[in-house]
Amino acid sequence: MNESTTSAPVRLRVAVPTPQHAGLAGLLDYEHLHPLPPGALVRVPLGRRQVLGVVWDDDGHGEAPVVIKPVADVLALPPLDAAWRALLAFAAAYYQRGLGEMAVSALPSALQALDNTQLARRLRRAPTPRTARNAGAQAAAQAPVLNAGQAAAVAAVQSQLALPPEAPRPPMLLWGVTGSGKTEVYLHAAELALGQGRQVLVLVPEINLTPQLEARFAARFGAERIATLHSGLTPPQRLRHWLAAHAGTADIVLGTRLAVLASLPRLGLVVVDEEHDASFKAQDGARQSARDLAVLRAHQARVPVLLGSATPSLESWHHASQGRYLRLDLPERAAGGALPTLRVLDLSQQQRPKGLRGPGATPPPVAQALLDAIEQRRQRGEQSLLLLNRRGYAPVLHCGACAWKSACPHCTAWRVFHKSDRTLRCHHCGFTERVPRACPDCGNQDIAPIGRGTERLEEQLQGLLPEARIARLDADTTSQVGSLERQLAAVHAGDVDVLVGTQMIAKGHDFQRVTLVAALNPDGLLFSSDFRAPERLFALLLQAAGRAGRDGARSEMWLQTDQPKHPLYQALARHDYPAFAASQLAERQAAGLPPYAHLALLRADSKDPDTAPAFLQAAAEAGQALSGEWPITWYPPVPHPVARVADHWRWQMLVESPQRAPLQRVLAQWVPELHALRRAHKGLARWAIDVDPSAI
Ligand code: ADP
Ligand code: ZN
Ligand code: ZN
Repeated sequence: MNESTTSAPVRLRVAVPTPQHAGLAGLLDYEHLHPLPPGALVRVPLGRRQVLGVVWDDDGHGEAPVVIKPVADVLALPPLDAAWRALLAFAAAYYQRGLGEMAVSALPSALQALDNTQLARRLRRAPTPRTARNAGAQAAAQAPVLNAGQAAAVAAVQSQLALPPEAPRPPMLLWGVTGSGKTEVYLHAAELALGQGRQVLVLVPEINLTPQLEARFAARFGAERIATLHSGLTPPQRLRHWLAAHAGTADIVLGTRLAVLASLPRLGLVVVDEEHDASFKAQDGARQSARDLAVLRAHQARVPVLLGSATPSLESWHHASQGRYLRLDLPERAAGGALPTLRVLDLSQQQRPKGLRGPGATPPPVAQALLDAIEQRRQRGEQSLLLLNRRGYAPVLHCGACAWKSACPHCTAWRVFHKSDRTLRCHHCGFTERVPRACPDCGNQDIAPIGRGTERLEEQLQGLLPEARIARLDADTTSQVGSLERQLAAVHAGDVDVLVGTQMIAKGHDFQRVTLVAALNPDGLLFSSDFRAPERLFALLLQAAGRAGRDGARSEMWLQTDQPKHPLYQALARHDYPAFAASQLAERQAAGLPPYAHLALLRADSKDPDTAPAFLQAAAEAGQALSGEWPITWYPPVPHPVARVADHWRWQMLVESPQRAPLQRVLAQWVPELHALRRAHKGLARWAIDVDPSAI
């Protein structure tokens, strides 16, 4: 194009965040005085607003508005590269979202507000890396000698890094028990990629796990080479770290699920730690799976991807057993130390502990034998972790005189009693009130908590173990900035004998003095309607067990259960993930569930009880008319397991296919029709499609 001789404006296709209900793909035409390369960042008018946009490749499929408006501003930044655009285009198509919406929401919001002078200043402030050679020398000085399993895993990464671009690179599944040295493998693999002058993307499931992994990467490679991306950053921080990744000044990008869409022009390796974790799946927006996108991204960029877990997702395990993924095993703990012995406590056989007998006593939180074991540990200066996956004091309050219960007026759920601030709180909609002094229905003064959450467990345990220093870790005790770090530091310093908490205590933390871990009430998840519940329970319990004996000491994992013979617990006792996975996969195959089927869930809610199911019914009929010869099953609408939340009735309908491709094809035709259907169902509050839903 001979731009120098034309003075007429050129047309540009721009990805802009058009609202989903508009039914636009998100590519609109704008004009500018001269051509801009695809990937250039611009500000453009959209309706009455000015929005961030990305100049897109012109494939002729955009929507040209009647009046072409000019680009308002061009951001002085390098363009987003073709690999990034390909990733976003895939993600938008796969998750049935507008491309513009998906692309712009992957960018830091603070980009929107800065002018080019400010941007230039930010770019200069992005961290500057030291040279790769320096870092390599430092790494050699600090890294332990790899054991055979670790060395083989690193060698597999090395050989994939050496492949020509077009060669196939199966994703690598690093299956290693807790403490087997997976992180050490990530560090060595990262070193290899950094040595080639490439960037490394490391994903972790939870923001709580970023500081400790960041510390290990920083100790090895230098903090100034790392950019972190997670939802806990302020908008300016997020912008700074994003810019460091985008400008290529950060060599390592470490973050939670949102980091998978960061711009990484020199990407050379992708690592997904705890790849099985449900937190990788977003529960709002496009509901994308960062784990799946990481695999796809690595494939598109022709770089290795390493998925690590002690309890891989059944999807990844299945891929490995089919030969599509390369399995790399670390069967033993790297620093020595046996895995904990499992002790299954049959609750029906247990005596009540001393001090909790007599009429009116709540059932004991901890069986006497377990209590004795905790006390022994305390006397030896060792720590115990008690896992109870329910926060608050009690899940419901109850009036014995009239059967009133603490229902939420806005949801089909009980409000949880929190004793510390004497409130009843709905964990679904947030509705909070002070606890009534007497029953609101009959005036009876004697309303009592039923069941037990972590707050009550802590209180009861203090009564049973008066000398123990007991601490509690859950969403309520860690809501303030820095409180989690403070509490973890107290545990590490040995100021705590017994730590009570929700699943928050089970994940990742490297506690050195814990020799006993107990799950007090895990049975609930055995009989959940969620088809992934057993997988989650197994992973959670094995993770929790992994907190014990990190220091090489002999350790135990206790389970209080009414189902001591359950196959899940039996497999756990043998630390036998393959047996558990095989039985689960057989069940999934028999039931036609993932990974043997592909699912999409259409959700809808409305204030009145009828609109959401009517919309879904119409949607199912529209879908049926589309599917033709394709092997697609359209299920009728059903209420969500929590049928009403915040005064909205929630419904969902499932679409299923034994193959991914026909499902994708039919969804792409169906979703545009849904936009039209939505307009015919005025009372609908929201609808959303969830591809590969985590629960149905
Ligand atoms: P994971 O990530 O699998 O939980 P880590 O990489 O954190 O395991 O390793 C667990 C512990 O073992 C750490 O303290 C680590 O320093 C140590 N470790 C890892 N690899 C080795 C090795 N090859 N030799 C000795 N110690 C090791
Ligand atoms: Zn009452
Ligand atoms: Zn509620």
